[in-house]
Amino acid sequence: MQLDPEATETATPITCARCGTAADGTPPTWTCSVENGSRRYFCDDCARANIRAIEGRLDSSWW
Ligand SMILES: [Zn+2]
Repeated sequence: MQLDPEATETATPITCARCGTAADGTPPTWTCSVENGSRRYFCDDCARANIRAIEGRLDSSWW
């Protein structure tokens, strides 16, 4: 039986790409942004503070 790449990914601890807050599993309220082909997650506070930048598709390193 082959491992599902998606299932493997969900086992990885999720951390906020901006402030580093860790979460168990994938918080439904967190924002997921795809940058350079990889997923980045942002916690509630960071997503709210940077919603324009996320929607504008600016790389997070610009913040
Ligand atoms: Zn955060």
